[in-house]
Amino acid sequence: MNDCIFCKIIKKEINADIVKDETDWMCFQDINPKAPVHLLIIPKTHYDNLHSVNDDLIIVKLMNGVKTIVKELGLEKKGYRVIVNTGDDGGQTVSHLHLHILAKRPLGWPPG
Ligand code: 5GP
Ligand code: ZN
Repeated sequence: MNDCIFCKIIKKEINADIVKDETDWMCFQDINPKAPVHLLIIPKTHYDNLHSVNDDLIIVKLMNGVKTIVKELGLEKKGYRVIVNTGDDGGQTVSHLHLHILAKRPLGWPPG
């Protein structure tokens, strides 16, 4: 997708603070963090959202990516939250599937 900001990050056309760069996915810092740890995990293939995914294995890889990152950052003990905002009501602003990882502060419930 030519005009997708996350595809541009994957192609290194725009900068991001990259935490991990794997074959099928990457993880980078959210530009506008909502918690002391706020990371995004994205597939390297462009999918608008969860419902556009035609490769179920990538969903497994993304979730395993979460586990890898969480372990590497030692977030398991205190806890963290994974969020997939989807569509307008879900608050999705970037139409490239992404998982938020939020940690290192108590997170309220329900979300606003
Ligand atoms: P959404 O609202 O779609 O669930 O989340 C999109 C996230 O992408 C937001 O938290 C926003 O701060 C982040 N974001 C938007 N543009 C950029 C960017 O250019 N670089 C980075 N690193 N994050 C971005
Ligand atoms: Zn994209």
